[in-house]
Amino acid sequence: MLNNYTIPPKTYFEIASLGYLLVLYLISFNDPNRKRLRSYKLFRNLEVNMLLALVVSILTYIFAYPELGTPLFICTILRTMDSIMCVMAARLFAIYLMEYVDAGRRMKWIGIVGNIIFYVYLVLMILNLPLKFILWYAPDGTYMHGALFVPIVFSGPVYYLSSGIIMLIISMRTLGPREQVALSAASIITLLGTVIQAATDGSLLLSLPFGSAGIFVLYFSLETTDYHELIKSNEKLRIAEQDAIKANRAKSDFLASMSHEIRTPLNAVLGMDELIINETRPEKQIDPSSAVRIREYADNIKDAGQILLSVINDILDLTKIESGKMEIKAAPYKLHTLTADIDTMIRIKAEQKGLTYIQQIDQRIPDRLIGDELRIRQIMINLLNNAVKYTDFGVVRLEVSSYKISDDTINLCISVKDTGIGIRSEDIPHIFGNFQRLNEEHNHSIEGTGLGLSIVKRMVELMNGRIEVSSEYGRGSVFTVVIPQTVNSGKADESAGAGIPEETEAAAPFITPECTYLVVDDNRLNLVVATRFLDDLKGRIETASSGTEALQKMREKKYDIIFMDHMMPGMDGIQTYRTAIKDPENINTATPVIMMTANALNGVREEYLDIGFTDYLSKPVDINELKRIVKRHIPPEKAIRQQ
Ligand code: ADP
Repeated sequence: MLNNYTIPPKTYFEIASLGYLLVLYLISFNDPNRKRLRSYKLFRNLEVNMLLALVVSILTYIFAYPELGTPLFICTILRTMDSIMCVMAARLFAIYLMEYVDAGRRMKWIGIVGNIIFYVYLVLMILNLPLKFILWYAPDGTYMHGALFVPIVFSGPVYYLSSGIIMLIISMRTLGPREQVALSAASIITLLGTVIQAATDGSLLLSLPFGSAGIFVLYFSLETTDYHELIKSNEKLRIAEQDAIKANRAKSDFLASMSHEIRTPLNAVLGMDELIINETRPEKQIDPSSAVRIREYADNIKDAGQILLSVINDILDLTKIESGKMEIKAAPYKLHTLTADIDTMIRIKAEQKGLTYIQQIDQRIPDRLIGDELRIRQIMINLLNNAVKYTDFGVVRLEVSSYKISDDTINLCISVKDTGIGIRSEDIPHIFGNFQRLNEEHNHSIEGTGLGLSIVKRMVELMNGRIEVSSEYGRGSVFTVVIPQTVNSGKADESAGAGIPEETEAAAPFITPECTYLVVDDNRLNLVVATRFLDDLKGRIETASSGTEALQKMREKKYDIIFMDHMMPGMDGIQTYRTAIKDPENINTATPVIMMTANALNGVREEYLDIGFTDYLSKPVDINELKRIVKRHIPPEKAIRQQ
């Protein structure tokens, strides 16, 4: 009998499919290390399942015949396996579709019903083995189908494929044209094969070959490495685009906040100035009461100017921090000098508001420390200024203590407490964000940019410290900062402090009647400010409004100090300086040249000093700082002390 045996023609399609699916399996296996999309894993599951289903089906239709001598139970097992593999293939196809159209979450019930159908089907197939009501072999070897064969064996695949198509239709709008065509074509081809096979009661074995054709469509349109790369780079582009939009929005928000913060004090400056102009109209007599008012307006202008300056300084600090340019410079300093300065500064502000200021410094803290005094000072002042600002009555308290963390390191604990308005618990997580001003309806009259705490936090972190806040709304707040500091065992030199200006150096009033100054600036108002400030020192002051004019003057007269602006039209300050030092006719080659500029970015001081400038003074010029610089660079005998 076996001699006459021919492979049944209805398996030819399946044998061909097995061949080309194997080829596809090898092609799609080419680069297992390459990271693929998630759908690819499901695609591989589907592909492997389809291969096995084809193998089982071909074996079944070749060998599951008792007349060939195959034992009946093997024939039954093969038929059962064949059916199960087909149902599984349809199920995996639906799972793949579900993943691709991302319907898993939105249409969970489709998956749940699919699972129930599958497990019920499995149980029925197992029950069928002893009970013989779906498929079985008669004792004479005839293969039999029960009435329930088609509904049980085909309901699963039809459900999976049709629900897959429904998901696809629902999600069509979220897919690109390529995905729409590929997924629809693959689903329709696979469903068609299953329906034809069911309609012909299994005499045309088309479900697996058509399913394999569907897999081909899926692979070459959606699962090739090239296409995955394309999707990934599109995704990267999309993220980059979103980031760019976000950055742009952040920039606009930043500019809007800055514009607001700058306009508010500017409004005060211009308004107060208008009032001064009004009070000093030629037809108006300046009596003592109007003089008092003018003084008040001038004081207000000064306050608003200080606020403007602090806004700019905050922005500079933030820019430095964000660009990673803020450096923490550790140098020896004395804690008690720092806290004494802070006491003087904050006590005045607190008392002006009728608040009690208490400073409690633990005497056991080593006084000589090594750290960035300037930044620690900035942190303390910021927190204390806030405490004063947000407290209407009661007490502002600074407590400083320490504990040892190693032989030469302590943790410095700075705590700033107030009995002010407090912070709502829901606002606390946002308090350290940029431009975060909380409780605006209550605080709108209090000046601030919402940058201070964000800068404080980042500076604390740069120093490897931490900051915490606890607050009771309406009752007060406590800000606690812990920063590690090295204890100065005595060898390091305090005079190399972290850039703290010599507070006492210029404190004693002095005049310089013997000195001659040259101020070089293209801006008329800046020249006025500098000359008026220097007027106080009673020296002779000359001005030049360009580099060329300055060079001329340097040839004609010997000066004691030259103040040079940087940004000037034509020859700028640096070019002027470089030309001057090479100029053989210049009689001021040994004269100190001070860079006096509005360029106040981090590190510029060092850059100017490297070029050769003797010192650096940032604009807006502080009169005391100007005097300190003068005193530092004129011959001591020319500074005459005044009582
Ligand atoms: P601002 O320039 O607005 O003071 P900060 O960054 O220093 O900016 O503070 C952010 C916000 O935190 C403030 O607007 C204020 O709402 C709140 N805040 C800061 N310190 C205190 C404090 N001591 N008491 C109550 N609220 C505070």
